[in-house]
Order: sequence, then structure tokens, then C-alpha cells
Amino acid sequence: MAETVYVALGSNLEQPELQLQRAVDTIDSSPQMTVCGCSRLYRSDPVGPPGQPDYCNAVVAITTTLTPLQLLDALQSIENSHGRVRSVRWGPRTLDLDIILFGNQRIESQRLTIPHYQMQVRNFVLCPLLDVAPDLELPDGTALQAMVDKLGYRGLRVIAENYPWI
Ligand code: ATP
Ligand code: CA
Ligand code: CA
Repeated sequence: MAETVYVALGSNLEQPELQLQRAVDTIDSSPQMTVCGCSRLYRSDPVGPPGQPDYCNAVVAITTTLTPLQLLDALQSIENSHGRVRSVRWGPRTLDLDIILFGNQRIESQRLTIPHYQMQVRNFVLCPLLDVAPDLELPDGTALQAMVDKLGYRGLRVIAENYPWI
């Protein structure tokens, strides 16, 4: 059965807008994943080690027949093909693809925590997610809109309205 999944994209190296645009194109051209919605494109203040360039962020909705772990493998291979090097935790990166929600599933395993463990405190995830899923409720029943109202849009700027963003 196909599930609706939300994936957050982030980049702050090597033309971040282009990294995100290409990542969505790659996801959509994969036979096992179909992009069915795209947020606006955002710039955000960096979190993590200081002195990093600003981030570019977005969220896409996809449908997939992959299992959660198969999807993680597929997304990590896209990260790797974009030259992602894992060095400092939360350090600068060419491409980060996080699974935010996978249908209504809750998953706690060594490689996967879904819903994403930090989504509630990251407006650069919640605000683009609201673009693609304005009426969304989390598996625990919390309304996404209420979470966005709590955090606001501080540190976020919309830099493109519609996909394709560039
Ligand atoms: P953060 O997880 O705080 O956003 P990060 O994205 O920089 O930090 P990564 O180095 O990209 O962290 O990922 C570390 C590990 O997180 C991955 O190897 C993966 O196994 C695990 N992980 C757990 N839950 C998820 C999820 N929902 N989506 C993507 N990766 C996840
Ligand atoms: Ca991340
Ligand atoms: Ca990640």
C-alpha cells in the first residue's frame, strides 16, 4: 500500500537552492517515489556550530510503496550522490533529507525515529510542512497549524513561492 510521507530538505553548501531543486527532481524521477506536493522555498538562520552559511529549507510530500527503512536508504543514497560528507554533527552540508512523517506510523528503531524527534521545535520544518499540508494532524492528534502558531516564522524568509523554485 502506498503511504504519504513528508520529507524535509536542507542545504547550506554549494548553491543550496540548486541542491534542493535537484534533490526533488531526483526523488520524483525514482520509480518508487512520487512527489505530490512541494512547499515554498525558505532561507533560514543556521542552527548547530556557529559561523555556518544560512540554510535553504523545504518540505515535499511523496507517495511511496517503500518501507520506512527502504526509504531511508534511498534518501541517504541521494544525499551521498550530492556529495554529502558526514563530519561535525549538525555541521554544514550539501544536502540533508529527513523523514518527518510516514503516514500515521510511529517508529522507534536504531536507524529511524518517526515522527522526526526534533520536528516540534524546528520552524524551518513546520512552516514548509504547513505549506504542503495545511490541515495535517500528527499521529498524537496535535494540529500542525497550532504548532506553527506557537513557533512563528522567526529567522525564516520565503525566497521562492512555487516549484520549480529556480
Ligand atoms: P538531525 O537528525 O538532528 O536533523 P542530521 O539530520 O544532521 O541531524 P544525520 O547525520 O543526517 O543527522 O543523520 C543521522 C542519522 O539519523 C541517520 O543515519 C539516520 O539513521 C538517523 N535518523 C533517525 N530518524 C531519522 C529520520 N526520521 N529521518 C532521517 N534520518 C533519521
Ligand atoms: Ca536534519
Ligand atoms: Ca538527516
